[in-house]
Amino acid sequence: MPTPRPAEDVRQDACPGALRPHQAADGLLVRVRIPGGLLRSGQLRVLAGLAAEFGDGELELTSRANVQLRALDERSLGTVADRLTGAGLLPSASHERVRNIVASPLSGRRAPGRWNVAPVVAELDRRLRAEPELAGLSGRFLFALDDGTGDILPLHGDLGLFPVDADTAALVLSGKDSRLRVPRTDAVTALLAAAHAFLAERAAQSSDAWRLAGLEDGPARVRARLEPDFPAADADFPAPAGADRPIGLLDETGGRVSLGVVVPLGRLTAAQASLLDETGEVTITPWRSVVLGHLDPAAAAGHARALAEAGLPADPASAWVGVTACAGRPRCAKSLADVRADAARVVRASGVAGRPVHWAGCARRCGKPAGDVVEVLATGEGYEVNGRTSDSAELSALVAQARGAGR
Ligand code: SF4
Repeated sequence: MPTPRPAEDVRQDACPGALRPHQAADGLLVRVRIPGGLLRSGQLRVLAGLAAEFGDGELELTSRANVQLRALDERSLGTVADRLTGAGLLPSASHERVRNIVASPLSGRRAPGRWNVAPVVAELDRRLRAEPELAGLSGRFLFALDDGTGDILPLHGDLGLFPVDADTAALVLSGKDSRLRVPRTDAVTALLAAAHAFLAERAAQSSDAWRLAGLEDGPARVRARLEPDFPAADADFPAPAGADRPIGLLDETGGRVSLGVVVPLGRLTAAQASLLDETGEVTITPWRSVVLGHLDPAAAAGHARALAEAGLPADPASAWVGVTACAGRPRCAKSLADVRADAARVVRASGVAGRPVHWAGCARRCGKPAGDVVEVLATGEGYEVNGRTSDSAELSALVAQARGAGR
């Protein structure tokens, strides 16, 4: 039986895990790693049950497609760990926080992806857990597996793959092409070798860097260690065309469909999670949404309506698309406002979609996505929208304007 560690035992690398709770203002927070965001049937229902029985009744989706339970009590931690283990969600006590693997959520289901990276996720997770030394990676170290569509590249994983053709992938270091090329059959071997190289370089520099980019010349030094084993290309891989967010009905190759739904502010109620689990094969995306796969096309429209009625719109034009918020008050003691409640009020008031927008309760801006994002920052006396002070009367209009509505 895995033994949870008390919250105060988190010292150097404070990234929470299933066995390493974080003490938040609303209670203990537990993060469950979901490699590739891929959930087996029944697992989401187990998570929903834990949230309902021991937490605040909701599941929090993270930008790495993991799941968090909030507002737990110390006395529940052993039962939570046991149930996670029983459901296959906690297969390793020693490596639970290093199973950080993001992957293209529609991989293998539709063009134009070049590889199905789901089997790579499974193999990487299994072999990562089998190597004791790799438990020394930090809870923030990220493996990023892109299927060739370019959806995962912007997440800037520490180590990643980007297929350049059906049989070969570029090894990606800190989000950039290393120009080392890896045969498909050696893909996981290359990633694990790079992880070992990172740890060796970190030891050589007497560094406590958590991420590859935090190590002096990290990508170059890891590349140098791997160079003898993998061929080098003359040029970077061409820029991918880019991929739309997987929201709505999406045709799969083979005649079935996937259904992507928005999860407003990344919070799933236990009832919503159970409904998703009943409806299909669930993949959590790094954009805090969910994709149901391999659905019968004749039934999918009905599923979309039922999920929309439950508060999970399957509409790419929904005003909830791209809206994120940090924990805010009362979950975080540093927060100057209940940013989630205010974000929800503004979305409902304006009802218009647009550029991504992130609401933050203080200047730390936790969870802010990379790229072009409107920033709504609590000041204690209201909000600043992209640095412009707003009073509450004009907040909705200002956010809508910043997101590009009406242009
Ligand atoms: S941005 Fe500030 S208020 Fe929000 S979760 Fe982070 S520390 Fe807390």
